[in-house]
Amino acid sequence: MPHALQEPAPSAATTAPPAYEVRTLGCQMNAHDSERITGLLENAGYVPALDRDPDLVVFNTCAVRENADNKLYGQLGQLAPVKCRNENMQIAVGGCLAQKDRATIVDRAPWVDVVFGTHNIGSLPVLLERARHNEAAQVEILEALETFPSALPTKREQAYAGWVSISVGCNNTCTFCIVPQLRGKEKDRRPGDILAEVQALVDSGAVEVTLLGQNVNSYGVEFGDRGAFAKLLRACGEIEGLERVRFTSPHPAAFTDDVIDAMAETPNVMPQLHMPLQSGSDRILRQMRRSYRSKKFLGILERVRERIPHAAITTDIIVGFPGETEQDFQDTLDVVAASEFSSAFTFQYSVRPGTPAGEMTDQVPAAVVKERFERLTALQDHISARLNRELVGTTAEVLVSAQSGRKSQSTHRLTGRGRDQRLVHFSVPEGSPAPRPGDVVTVPVTGAAAYHLLADPRDAAEYTLRRSRGGDAWEAAQAESCGAPSSAAAPGAVGLGMPTLRKP
Ligand code: SF4
Repeated sequence: MPHALQEPAPSAATTAPPAYEVRTLGCQMNAHDSERITGLLENAGYVPALDRDPDLVVFNTCAVRENADNKLYGQLGQLAPVKCRNENMQIAVGGCLAQKDRATIVDRAPWVDVVFGTHNIGSLPVLLERARHNEAAQVEILEALETFPSALPTKREQAYAGWVSISVGCNNTCTFCIVPQLRGKEKDRRPGDILAEVQALVDSGAVEVTLLGQNVNSYGVEFGDRGAFAKLLRACGEIEGLERVRFTSPHPAAFTDDVIDAMAETPNVMPQLHMPLQSGSDRILRQMRRSYRSKKFLGILERVRERIPHAAITTDIIVGFPGETEQDFQDTLDVVAASEFSSAFTFQYSVRPGTPAGEMTDQVPAAVVKERFERLTALQDHISARLNRELVGTTAEVLVSAQSGRKSQSTHRLTGRGRDQRLVHFSVPEGSPAPRPGDVVTVPVTGAAAYHLLADPRDAAEYTLRRSRGGDAWEAAQAESCGAPSSAAAPGAVGLGMPTLRKP
């Protein structure tokens, strides 16, 4: 691959290898792309800028939300004087916004060295080299995928968990979404390649894998097998050492019972489902060009719960889509009340230039959108808190996370995710061994709020620690990077679904 041939210029200040920083502005798809960018750069000789100024800053951008533009140009503006002081520094912008804005980025921020698109991530090291050599900005955006992204080297954020792309692009045409224009038509990866990557992750210590695609359950349509996603889940169930399988995101229109059966019958597929509702009004769903209706949506949830009674179901909802009336919004509240989501990613609609909805003339005033949004979140918070309270008295099996939030610093609780993906803050009884990120603890649920569960075992008898291969892998990765393992280290991970105004 071309990147392997490139030698980046050494850092200006020292002869040390050049240091990079990747800033991710976006969704989980972007976060996974950032892992690939990181892998490519390290393959090409760059090192992470841990405690020194970066010689290269790469922005991996998102175009789904409008203020992503402001965020990007704001951060680029802050870097302009830094780059003036360090003429060897390079700045690259990739991702969906780059795919959309192309050369406009260098027009607005001429100090940017490279602009690359969502289809040619693999060219980044070459483009950086070319920009340096030619002393001119390089803008290269491809319309179609050159290499399936998963074939590129990847540096995973967490050693004990990984994402695997099963498809890229989307064949749907939701009127609020810019993804189809930016990521192109759906391209499915061959099952053998996917399973080989899952196996490789497991071999390197991962105990959890999330299968990733814009619309995972239309997987297989491209190569003529509509049952391919269910088969893929079952095949993941055969992989020894793989403890937790998750996936995101399905689409209600294409969600079939064979997937529900595969989830229910494959023990390592977790009892959790992210099912984007977007609106509870059939009229608005039509305007959104989402081909299911609220009745079908509720029917899916019912069948999932019949087969997987403790499944935690989460969703995405957009409030204030153009033309949304008070009655349409009331329909959304009704479906939300009936759905009993464990949590919801809720968005206030804002115009996304380039999308059909952005052209619609009946935009809802911002104040109305905000007021509806507050009513929706109040309802969902109430439901989430009630469902979480019902879990007090049960036990949770928690995969310990490397995230150390403010919470854990102030209370000394550690954090992880239950089998149903609920966030659990737990304490370790005095005298009991602390887990490493990637280990699994079983703890009693003793408290609940809308966004998390609390688990404070009274004594060692109520606390079980299982040291896992995931914990071993995390420890080995720590030792490799800084040689100092600790139980709460790496910075935050990225939430599910589209970029959020508010995370559950
Ligand atoms: S919202 Fe999802 S399903 Fe709809 S067009 Fe965008 S990526 Fe495709």
